[in-house]
Amino acid sequence: MLFDKFQDMANFQAELAERDVKPFGAVTEQILSATEGIVEGRKVILAGTNNYLGLSYDPRCIRAAQDAAERWGTGTTGSRLANGSFAEHEALEQEIADFYGVENAIVFSTGYAATMGMCATLAGPGDTILLDADSHASIYAGVTLSGADIIRFKHNNPEDLAKRLRRLGDNTGRALIIAEGIYSMYGDIAPLREIAEVKREFGGYLFLDEAHSMGTLGATGRGAAQEAGVEDDVDFFAGTFSKSLGAIGGFCVSRHAEMEAIRFCIRSYIFTASSSPSVIASTRESLRIIQAEPELREKLWENAHRLYDGLKQLGLPVSPAASPVVALEMEDRSATIDCWKALLEAGVYVNLVVPPASPSNNYLLRNSVSAAHSTAQIDSIIAAYASLIDAGLAKPTLAA
Ligand code: PMP
Repeated sequence: MLFDKFQDMANFQAELAERDVKPFGAVTEQILSATEGIVEGRKVILAGTNNYLGLSYDPRCIRAAQDAAERWGTGTTGSRLANGSFAEHEALEQEIADFYGVENAIVFSTGYAATMGMCATLAGPGDTILLDADSHASIYAGVTLSGADIIRFKHNNPEDLAKRLRRLGDNTGRALIIAEGIYSMYGDIAPLREIAEVKREFGGYLFLDEAHSMGTLGATGRGAAQEAGVEDDVDFFAGTFSKSLGAIGGFCVSRHAEMEAIRFCIRSYIFTASSSPSVIASTRESLRIIQAEPELREKLWENAHRLYDGLKQLGLPVSPAASPVVALEMEDRSATIDCWKALLEAGVYVNLVVPPASPSNNYLLRNSVSAAHSTAQIDSIIAAYASLIDAGLAKPTLAA
């Protein structure tokens, strides 16, 4: 039957309903600040939002969005190729290209449309894509559509990438290597110096999704490649406006002049309406702020280290290094769901991640840190985790 394949999901939803938990689609009834809201009737600290710099609630960004809505209306009602290319879109493209110090930029309506569309378009039949095995769903969706040969290399493993590129022999000129700056689930950072070295040795083009690293890494916030000092080795930088920039939308920038031809071949650019001018205007303001206020990035990392160290001190199974994403890797599905519920009841909203969204078929309690969190809020999050241990819901498994 057509619906048979959904039975497992229906069973899982029924189990969650029976346990009175709503980890997927919990409703935020009110936003009180960048880090606090009313979720499912409770006042909570928001620790699962990707709002790394707190800019979704910055008065300057809100004002920019309001002004743009008054000037331009609420929507473009069309694609960039038809009637949806407003001066705001072109201005943001210029600003984001300038930010990366390259000539070419394309702005998309979502980050998903940017990565999926670029990956689907850059490589085609006869080309080869080598992608990190833990790549985001939007990348997998894109490469599946591309028609290229697809090779997965082991997560964050440049040696495995080298082995597979070597096998392509003289054909690496038609190879697209895909990696991410910070991986979204564990918060681990790609070994970009080594990946760049491999690319230099064997050839190919490098596409880097900086969705979680733009704004959070690098001397001026350009991301993980800037942090690693290998920006010249990256052919395409993609990213999103929905995390550090606090809005919605995506981008791809490149030094390659071919981008202007590529633009008109990307289906997720051509056949969808462009972003509302208010969204573009707030993004432009955020982009200005992240360049003018590097202290936001410093505060984010201070908070990330505080949360990471606090959870590690409790002996909880955190990932190997501190990052704006701090994930706890749990083995017991039922216990992880109970933990998520208990955290919400203790006033902390985090993300529950289950397979297939979690990379290795395990269960994650995923926290994302914000520069807007106060020290007291970070300490409250740590205290909420400590209460899980006290209640016997979570076990310290790491030597403190
Ligand atoms: N790439 C990565 C690595 C992501 O984590 C995400 C979103 N979680 C996206 C792309 C898609 O971005 P958006 O949600 O802004 O569409």
